[in-house]
Amino acid sequence: MFKLKNFRKRSLWILHYNAGSCNGCDIEILACLGPTYDLERFGVLNRGNPKQSDMLLITGPVTYRSRERVVELFTQMPEPKVVVAVGSCTCTGGVFSGMYNVEDGVDKYIPVDVYIPGCAATPEYIIDGVLKGLELLEHKSKEIVKPKKLFKKLSFHKDHIDRRGIAGKVGENDGKD
Ligand code: SF4
Repeated sequence: MFKLKNFRKRSLWILHYNAGSCNGCDIEILACLGPTYDLERFGVLNRGNPKQSDMLLITGPVTYRSRERVVELFTQMPEPKVVVAVGSCTCTGGVFSGMYNVEDGVDKYIPVDVYIPGCAATPEYIIDGVLKGLELLEHKSKEIVKPKKLFKKLSFHKDHIDRRGIAGKVGENDGKD
């Protein structure tokens, strides 16, 4: 049987976004994708397209100018999705905390699943955070599959599938299939 969780586990596509960081953590993320740490060998791919990404790797304390973009990118990503905040300034504002032009952490605008501390966050911590995010993504994938139970069973005929009347109302079919 086809399992939704398998393809996510083996081909995680990420979106990397800099929301006003000093570039320190961004360089570490790129190091993870480069030949030394080579996250790509596990199927992790930096897509740069929110509509095709499963995980948002975000850096920076979120400047006033970037906050709208952050929300926009997050809403464009399909469910299930996971947000990983990379670096202390992304988690709490870090060295930028209290400055006139920053928001002191990304979780004021979008929900964060994994926080990676460090200034800069090391590649080992980032890889650890990505794997933690992968676990959460698997869990969220199972939640997404659940609505299928609201539908009646498909009837298989000789040469076609009978789709008539498979859509049921919520609760209509509970306990009957
Ligand atoms: S956590 Fe430190 S190194 Fe990383 S982006 Fe923020 S200020 Fe730069």
